[in-house]
Amino acid sequence: MAGRSKTPAIGIDLGTTYSCVAVWKHDRIEIIVNDQGNRTTPSDVAFTDTERLIGDAAKNQVDMNPINTVFVMSCDAYMLKGKGFSHVVGSDAKRLIGRRFSDDSVQSDIKLWPFKVVAGPNDKPMIVVTHKGEEKQIPAEEISSMILVKMRETAEAFLGCTVKNAVVTVPAYFNDSQRQATKDAGAIAGLNVMRIINEPTAAAIAYGLDENVASSIGEKNVLIFDLGGGTFDVSILAIKQGILEVKATAGDTHLGGEDFDNRMVNHFVQEFKRKHKKDISGSPRALRRLRTCCERAKRTLSSTFQTTIDIVSLYDGIDFYSTITRARFDELNMDLFRKCIHTVEECMRDAKMDKGSVHDVVLVGGSTRIPKVQQMLQDFFNGKELCKSINPDEAVAYGAAVQAAKMSGVGNKKVQDIILMDVTPLSLGVETLGGVVTVVIPRNTSIPTKKEHVLTTVYDNQTIVSFPVCEGERTRSKDNNLLGKFGLSGIPPAPRGVMKMTVCFDIDANSILNVSAEEKTTGLKNNITITNDNGRLSKEEIEKMVQEAEKYKFEDEEHKKNVESKNALEYYAYNMRNTTKDEKIGAQLAPVDKKKIEDAIEEAIQWLDSNQLAEADEFKDKMKELESICNPIISKTVH
Ligand code: AMP
Repeated sequence: MAGRSKTPAIGIDLGTTYSCVAVWKHDRIEIIVNDQGNRTTPSDVAFTDTERLIGDAAKNQVDMNPINTVFVMSCDAYMLKGKGFSHVVGSDAKRLIGRRFSDDSVQSDIKLWPFKVVAGPNDKPMIVVTHKGEEKQIPAEEISSMILVKMRETAEAFLGCTVKNAVVTVPAYFNDSQRQATKDAGAIAGLNVMRIINEPTAAAIAYGLDENVASSIGEKNVLIFDLGGGTFDVSILAIKQGILEVKATAGDTHLGGEDFDNRMVNHFVQEFKRKHKKDISGSPRALRRLRTCCERAKRTLSSTFQTTIDIVSLYDGIDFYSTITRARFDELNMDLFRKCIHTVEECMRDAKMDKGSVHDVVLVGGSTRIPKVQQMLQDFFNGKELCKSINPDEAVAYGAAVQAAKMSGVGNKKVQDIILMDVTPLSLGVETLGGVVTVVIPRNTSIPTKKEHVLTTVYDNQTIVSFPVCEGERTRSKDNNLLGKFGLSGIPPAPRGVMKMTVCFDIDANSILNVSAEEKTTGLKNNITITNDNGRLSKEEIEKMVQEAEKYKFEDEEHKKNVESKNALEYYAYNMRNTTKDEKIGAQLAPVDKKKIEDAIEEAIQWLDSNQLAEADEFKDKMKELESICNPIISKTVH
């Protein structure tokens, strides 16, 4: 554990739809509000012709900009075609991070996204965006790092000092390269990622602190039910005297609030067809507007039994008005809700537990506010009360901040007493003869862990052995996820089966895997660590992106300065115009002076209209020019 550090360490929930940051302060965990006063920040990044926007500004821009041009949208991602506006949502970046372009999951996700994703070096997926009129290819790590920067700055504004250390959460199903890539994203954002922890585990820590588990005597089994915007996770943890041990995790990487929104959108598309004999599904803009309303209606239905959809001129000038009941919404999503319950069953089977041995069920993620989901879960647990004491949107960041406090040696006894024992979400193994996987670390093994497995040569006089390392539950390696490949060479020639190689899988507390192999029988040592061919960023690439982040920061600041100077000029001009019209002051002005001011204002406003994108200095010069005309005249008047 790191010693007491001078700078505070923060906990960041880098969420699919929203992100949240928290820190230990005032003897408790504080969820930090952003510059908009919100406790969570949309995981959105937008690129326009003039600037880069992150968080609320990026999300608002999309909502404020519908008139600009056609939106091409699907899921939650938008791109204003032809207007140099690209909008990438955190969930998209999160689905790409640490993956290869040719991965099946990437290929199927790409089909749903309106923006282009192309294959970069090492098969790395690159998001194509248009920024300042230029097409750019950005890896997912860089998009995630931009959101991390925003969260870091939010924390810095709150704490009044620089922040370097952070605990960042990832979904439990994230594989090794996705975790590595998230660490890289942290490095690009200027953060030292002290620990990567699983989202449900972080939520369990929050629950643990809330329930004061550190001092509890008996063992408690807790099921964390995390249903967010795009993903679903279930974890079962055993908590005893502050020790949190993950027993099993299960989940679905493509199940969440967005799917429920989609069902409602489809429902209304059909209704529009019936009512107006028109198909709006070909109009991305109409779909986008409908989707925004559906998401809002869905939230409303969590507290009321019926709500309305009212959209002016949705399609072909037709206004759309309709109602939807909670019962209908539930019915539209029933199969998805059932899927959630099946996943709970699966996780319990893995943990070898029955319903009676789960002491508490904790709700995490915005979609757990849906009453039907809560009811089905409660029914499944024979009417057990669900734990709703911690805010589902904040629990993950809360837990990450507890871990961060613990690692930096701050926090009270309760924090210091909590010990986290996570598990591997997927089995890890090595491909052997015939493409079959030999599992070295079975899934749901507690980490950190180190396991060895002995393999032999399969041919006579074999001097080179290759070890493809993969993760997954299938028996054949081609059905699993290949993490990397490495070889051991220089093995002394011998009949097959004689030479023995010991393969060692070592997973650290961040769930990051190192594999090595050694030939022990002859004393010949040849340790090899897994070579990284996952398209992970090199040190140089990270360095380049750190510099790029600096460049973005500089550009953002320059842009802010330009906008501020423009505002100041506009404000002065309009204020001066009002002053000349003011009964008291205006009446004191000689007609010739009044005309002089009015002409100068008119000229300045016209100049502003045609120089919207001028630099700060130009606005300042214009301001000085206007002031030099107006101020001497106004100063002669009696206020
Ligand atoms: P998360 O990823 O945990 O931030 O969850 C975000 C998801 O929760 C989004 O799909 C939201 O639409 C959904 N959500 C938030 N509040 C509610 C609510 N009151 N009822 C239903 N869904 C909600």
